[in-house]
Amino acid sequence: MKFTDLNAHGGIGANCAYCKIGPFEFALDSGLHPKHAGLESLPQHDQVPIDQLDFILLTHCHLDHLGSLPLLSRKHPRAPVFLSYPSSILIRRMLSNSLAVMKRQRSELNLPELPLYGRSDLSALYDRMEILPIEEPFIFEKDGHSIEITAYHAGHVAGAVSFDLKFEGKHSFFTGDVLFNNLRTLDGARLPNHPVETLVMETTRGLAERPAGQQREAEIVRLLQDIRKALNRGGSALIPVFALGRMQEMLVVLDEARKKKALPPTPVFCSGLGMDLVNHIHQISQNFNRVNFSRKVLRSLGAQPLPRRIEAGEPLPMQGIYLVSSGMMVENTPSYMLASSMLGDERNGIFFVGYCDPSTPGGQLLASEPGQEFLFDPVDILSDIRATVRQYDLSGHADRDELLAFARSVSPRKVILHHGDPEARAWFASQFKKLNLPVLDPEPLIEYEV
Ligand SMILES: [Zn+2]
Ligand SMILES: [Zn+2]
Repeated sequence: MKFTDLNAHGGIGANCAYCKIGPFEFALDSGLHPKHAGLESLPQHDQVPIDQLDFILLTHCHLDHLGSLPLLSRKHPRAPVFLSYPSSILIRRMLSNSLAVMKRQRSELNLPELPLYGRSDLSALYDRMEILPIEEPFIFEKDGHSIEITAYHAGHVAGAVSFDLKFEGKHSFFTGDVLFNNLRTLDGARLPNHPVETLVMETTRGLAERPAGQQREAEIVRLLQDIRKALNRGGSALIPVFALGRMQEMLVVLDEARKKKALPPTPVFCSGLGMDLVNHIHQISQNFNRVNFSRKVLRSLGAQPLPRRIEAGEPLPMQGIYLVSSGMMVENTPSYMLASSMLGDERNGIFFVGYCDPSTPGGQLLASEPGQEFLFDPVDILSDIRATVRQYDLSGHADRDELLAFARSVSPRKVILHHGDPEARAWFASQFKKLNLPVLDPEPLIEYEV
């Protein structure tokens, strides 16, 4: 196989890999970098000659894997886009939201290249989608050659799949983002254990020592305690979340707690995209048995849409639990605006339930000390850190020991490290060396033959 990581910035960022197996050329995912905007957020698609790809594989609908797919697909109009059934539902809502965000950023950030694509690109992309059922091989043929593509349930978020590609009897396996543990709303990954030639593996939790699975319930208990304390002080709780996946999971967690009287009957506010995705994931769960979610949770919890206008730095309209995106409190998102209003009041709590890149406002806030000042620069608000700021380890990714065990179980001839910060990859590289498994940590934009 030939492998090129097209994510120019390295680390997690704008996921996109360009691969060649025998005569077949394909791309795995095509994301947008969450920390950059405009052209800077794109993978280096121009390393792939125009109209060259035979097909594109989409592992799941988080924007760091999906956000630039309309552009890549436009350059390869003959390439079908293979994805799971849940992803075929979620992709439309995620991309129309992304388009709306880009239109807004055009003036906010003064980026004339935005939006990067239009509605006609989206409908052309949707026409190229082909749903792959789980664990059913699909034969793709070209010039008398064939390659067998199989999607496996990868946990992580509704619709997430790993891909196995079998060519001339040899398997290449791409984990995508994977979570082995069951969530309230989603079954854990079920991956194959046949030997593979090349394993392309995510490495997100390479630096996290503690196993995610064992402590998940304990972390939920700790989170609920902290929410309760904030509410009892007369404050509010802000929970920044990814709109896709984590928000629905947290709705179910809050609803269970409410039913057990572990939370007082306080209003719960959600941002719009997450509310819409509730309906989509409800629909998916009716047709796909690995997703377990009902939109009834909204009524049971009395969840309401976030009030339309939130003024940065102004007092909150109402005491409550605010379950809003973005999960890393990226500038100008609802979680960022709410934090600018809440941080200076010691009754409030800001509770992070997912990963925060250290360079994002969420990461910077977590690295700050209570009592320090925190600048919300784009809205020009300087606030003392008086609210309780905490993080809980509820990762959507497999922990490092589980990934190592999976890798050993498929005895790869070569492991390619993917989707992780440099230090996280380095940990995996050192472990694979100890196990005498050949490992590659690819530099971006360089083609490797493995
Ligand atoms: Zn993901
Ligand atoms: Zn990812």
